[in-house]
Amino acid sequence: MSEFIAPLEMLIEAFRHLPGVGRKSAERMAFGVLDMTEEETNKFLSAVSTAKNTIRTCSECGNITAEELCPICSNSERDKTLICVVEDSKAVISFEKIKEFNGVYHVLGGVISPRSGKGPDSLNLFSLIDHIKNNGATEVMIATNATVEGETTAMYISRLIKPTGVKITRLAYGIPVGADIEYADKLTLLRAIEGRREV
Ligand code: ZN
Repeated sequence: MSEFIAPLEMLIEAFRHLPGVGRKSAERMAFGVLDMTEEETNKFLSAVSTAKNTIRTCSECGNITAEELCPICSNSERDKTLICVVEDSKAVISFEKIKEFNGVYHVLGGVISPRSGKGPDSLNLFSLIDHIKNNGATEVMIATNATVEGETTAMYISRLIKPTGVKITRLAYGIPVGADIEYADKLTLLRAIEGRREV
């Protein structure tokens, strides 16, 4: 039996479902919520519901956005002929932080993973072909993570888009095998982009 009263245990479990949150952190968060004033509680609840109700995916690239198009796709300064394919919006943030990439993204929303029953259909993948054609893209840089699933997905994508005639490149992995782009430092990521190879 839990050492906590039921409503508190429910709150702890709710936080436990968030990525990277262990039991101890979840307990601290739950007690943090209990310490909130009424005003703070309302602000917190409203932030959660506003985020959930207004954030959606960009109709062009699949990145998270509050508008029809994300700020990157709607920026006329970005080079739309270079598309960087990433697993998720967190990877977009990692690339944006290095401030050296001026192309646009295509966000898959995951990777092909037979183990967890995720096939190509469950990803924002087939729209990549329209994205390439509509943008007149000349290069697609595949930046899925250097994991087995990331590599499988990269191979699938390269076969899928080959008929469009676009140049297909893969990041050079100074990024350790098995590591997430999310955790790569700026210099490593920059080198991975500069050293990308045609596949
Ligand atoms: Zn977009």
